[in-house]
Amino acid sequence: MKRQINFNAGPAEMPAEVLHEASKAVKRFGSTGSSILELSHRSKEFLDIVEESKTLVKQLCGIGSDYDVVWMQGGGRLQFCMLPMNFLDAKVGAGYLDTGHWADEAQKYATHYGKAEVLASSKEGNYNHLPEWPKKIPASLPYLHLTTNNTIYGTQWQTIGDSSAPLVADMSSDIFSGKRDYSKYAMFYAAAQKNLGAAGTTLVVIRKDFLDKAKADMPPMLSYKAQVKENSILNTANVFGVYVSLLTLRWIKEKGIAAIEKENKAKAKLLYDALDSSKVFVPHVKDKTQRSRMNVCFTATNAKQEKAFLELCEANDITGIKGHRLAGGFRASLYNAIELSSVERLVAVMAEFEAQAV
Ligand SMILES: *Cc1c(COP(=O)(O)O)cnc(C)c1O
Repeated sequence: MKRQINFNAGPAEMPAEVLHEASKAVKRFGSTGSSILELSHRSKEFLDIVEESKTLVKQLCGIGSDYDVVWMQGGGRLQFCMLPMNFLDAKVGAGYLDTGHWADEAQKYATHYGKAEVLASSKEGNYNHLPEWPKKIPASLPYLHLTTNNTIYGTQWQTIGDSSAPLVADMSSDIFSGKRDYSKYAMFYAAAQKNLGAAGTTLVVIRKDFLDKAKADMPPMLSYKAQVKENSILNTANVFGVYVSLLTLRWIKEKGIAAIEKENKAKAKLLYDALDSSKVFVPHVKDKTQRSRMNVCFTATNAKQEKAFLELCEANDITGIKGHRLAGGFRASLYNAIELSSVERLVAVMAEFEAQAV
């Protein structure tokens, strides 16, 4: 079967080069006589994979030795749990910005462990915009949590306001998608299945002074201190997943973040321009300064057209365009691996649909 253009939100389309290298490693990994799937997580080879990935993450983020980098399992959601478990208790409460489903989930998970105050929310507009950055963020908060890109509703913080409290960000759906001052964050994390590899591994980057404040008396699996100390191999690591993320990091470095950003801007502009001039499709987010370059959400003016459009996409080998069940409509996820030509193809199919519909 022909390779489809995959606009899925995650797991998402991967760079062809990464798929090629990963499949080679499944048969035989490097100079070893084994498959990567047979490689011990305590082997020298895996240690090298971890070291190179940590170095690349720091280089790409422009951060230094004051940060620790660790690979964990459990996806984005385990971080929703671990963060409050490590930093909150019944008396100490953190701040959360509620900008979408994942941001809201992160805050709800935190309420199991301590106070988690919503300092700003855009829920009332079905998350079709970002709230104003809070005027006053108490320095006494152990952290302020935000979601840099809202995968389901298609908004993205292009600029971040000031905070006297340590900033912690869920960057699952826009890490390495463009230039960003990563040194503003005390901690950030990203489940790999969007912009950073395959499902099953999560990148966590944590500044040492912030890590110092984490609780020590914790079951090791759930303790940032223990995970960092054990260098991503506290338990049997997701060896293959981390390797696929390393291949993705190499691919990102080869392209360069500046070139990736330029491409991502061009891809998003092409699609938003088509939506803004369309009589059939309507973008979910109106404010151009808040639109996500990663997840473009839109609906059809006439709900009856939705099925027909999905069928036309399918006939054109375009998949993964259906919106999240919470948001409805359509969503095209334009992560780093999606090429401009794929977006051109989608826009052409939209134009064809529109010509038939009006
Ligand atoms: C996909 C996503 C998650 C959920 O990740 P899981 O690995 O499925 O737990 C969390 N946050 C954001 C911003 C996401 O896009």
